[in-house]
Amino acid sequence: MKMQINGKAVEAIRGEFFDIINPATGELIDRVPRGTGDDVADAVEAASSAFGSWASTSPQQRAGVFYRAGEIIRQRKDSLAALITKEQGKPLIEARNEIEGFANVLEYYCGLAGSFHGDFIQIPQNGYAMTVKKPLGVCAAIIPWNMPALIMAWKIGPALISGNTLVLKPASNTPLTNLTLASILSEAGLPAGVLNVVTGPGELVGEALVSNHKVKKVSFTGESATGKRVAELAVSGKKRVTLELGGSDPMLVCDDADLESAVVGALRGRFYNCGQTCMAVKRLYVFESIAEEFIKKLEAAVWKLRVGNGIYENIDMGPLNNRRQWEYVKDLVAEIEEKDEGRIITGGKVPANSACNRGYFFEPTLIADVPRESRLLKEEVFGPVLPVVRVKDLDEAIEEANNSSYGLGASIWTKNLDRAISGCEQLDAGIIWINQHLKIAPEVPFGGVKESGIGRENGPYALSEYLDLKTIMLKT
Ligand code: NAP
Repeated sequence: MKMQINGKAVEAIRGEFFDIINPATGELIDRVPRGTGDDVADAVEAASSAFGSWASTSPQQRAGVFYRAGEIIRQRKDSLAALITKEQGKPLIEARNEIEGFANVLEYYCGLAGSFHGDFIQIPQNGYAMTVKKPLGVCAAIIPWNMPALIMAWKIGPALISGNTLVLKPASNTPLTNLTLASILSEAGLPAGVLNVVTGPGELVGEALVSNHKVKKVSFTGESATGKRVAELAVSGKKRVTLELGGSDPMLVCDDADLESAVVGALRGRFYNCGQTCMAVKRLYVFESIAEEFIKKLEAAVWKLRVGNGIYENIDMGPLNNRRQWEYVKDLVAEIEEKDEGRIITGGKVPANSACNRGYFFEPTLIADVPRESRLLKEEVFGPVLPVVRVKDLDEAIEEANNSSYGLGASIWTKNLDRAISGCEQLDAGIIWINQHLKIAPEVPFGGVKESGIGRENGPYALSEYLDLKTIMLKT
């Protein structure tokens, strides 16, 4: 596939490509251009030229494009889902959810078209003031590979509906989904230059984009370390920045929790997308008195997970997305085993199954009795490994949960309202779930505190990230 700049399919200026590999089979799926700084400059120029006319269309006209795109996307849901599965690795059922989520987010922003307006402010004895909201201009979006479609929607939805234009840099492991969705938006009537997609390495294409002086705002999703670099570049260029970064979400299971639903919550919360979800359950804190029973139930559920190529309908967990993640998870679990840091209850290795021997597969792994200082609890483990820690009560659970540099999400599982409120008040996180984990919706703001990021996506709040407020004062 080719890059998309100013409504045209573009080869790399120097004609270089890179390979997109299926993580379940190791097979070559496609090749995409290795973009350069000049490609970024062209894309920003195209976005800048398109800005004036796009900003002057009515929000309803912009919504019309999103509605039409949503319709096309739903009609092609199966082929789009298969594309995500091929380049990202997740099972088809999850890929279909993601495509559905992409259309839902765009349609949600259609509903907000025209809702953003300024205020009228009466000033005693001195006239009145008004505020008006204006789009910023050219925005940049840089996205990761774990949810390429959904995170694209979280950025293009608020940016484009509010009249901005955009240059998007996909992750180098999953650009095909983004390029295909961008071409559907063109087909739905998005004018040339409003959305441009430049593929290529983050250090080159990503940095050139963030540093371009015409870019007014950067919205980045990815690892916390990359986010810091992006933030430095954006701030030095006086740009607005939103950072959606890593997480190490704790799940707290109290002794009065409904254990059956908590087991389902932990299973889905950890092993969905092969553990590669920013808000996955990455640390499980269980009250001592129910820990043994809970672990047994969870173990039984984990053994039932079917691991394999997600392109087959009966698969629950696909491979990790790339070699780097796979090596990280393998090495980390080997180190835990070597240091005897916990009891490996399920998994802990690459599956022996021959259907898995060409991809980046790892067994769903449950590790109990993990010591507090283990890397499993300190780092963001982006893979199918769930450490379990026993705690004596809620105070200890909250203290341990907050003992992390991350603060994306957290969940508390209890039937006791006082405990639930206590968790909501005291847990350091951008989103707290009660008796569930992982649930998100386009209406609900999403984002983290501490190392997990700055700013919020989704909901009406996201629009303010893409609008400037101008104050007009009149003397009477
Ligand atoms: P990553 O390595 O940080 O990459 C993210 C994006 O940044 C990719 O497009 C990457 O391009 C680009 N990039 C890399 N270096 C760059 C640089 N110096 N300047 C500008 N851009 C650069 O993250 P990832 O491994 O793709 O994604 C996994 C991470 O994303 C996890 O930490 C996860 O928790 C986080 N995440 C957070 C959220 C949230 O909403 N909080 C949601 C999803 C994922 P290349 O692919 O070319 O390297």
